[in-house]
Amino acid sequence: MDCLFCKIVAGEIPSHKVYEDDFVYAFLDIYPCAEGHTIVLPKKHFEKFTDMSDDEAASLFASVNKVAKTVGKTLELEGMNIGINNGELAGQTVPHVHVHIIPRRAGDGEGNMHTIVELHPSTENIAELAEKLRNSF
Ligand code: 5GP
Ligand code: ZN
Repeated sequence: MDCLFCKIVAGEIPSHKVYEDDFVYAFLDIYPCAEGHTIVLPKKHFEKFTDMSDDEAASLFASVNKVAKTVGKTLELEGMNIGINNGELAGQTVPHVHVHIIPRRAGDGEGNMHTIVELHPSTENIAELAEKLRNSF
């Protein structure tokens, strides 16, 4: 398969590995947003997080939690952002699902999840929207 992250998992492309188990592989991002910026991905290829089953997603996030705890403790972090760019429009550049663990430090810019998009919608129909979503499960 012609996938950069599958090649990293297979060892065909070198990476700075941080953690590995049967299900995931974690390594340092080559263009880090912060020191210790870590990527965790499932060894099995899925393009997007929303292509994974409930069980696969649960396994991925159990390992993300383990890696984040160790990165946080080892680098003595007080905070980190943990997230996924899910789909090209959301900023995903490598089409193999991966979770970013981005260490945060005082004075680093103070951005957060709320600053990803600049256009904010009206909340006029928020009750109908919630109902529509509830009824879709
Ligand atoms: P995305 O934008 O898809 O959420 O994240 C892709 C990430 O992969 C980026 O942060 C980018 O720096 C990282 N990346 C791209 N190519 C490589 C590579 O060859 N090695 C490593 N370690 N990271 C990479
Ligand atoms: Zn892949």
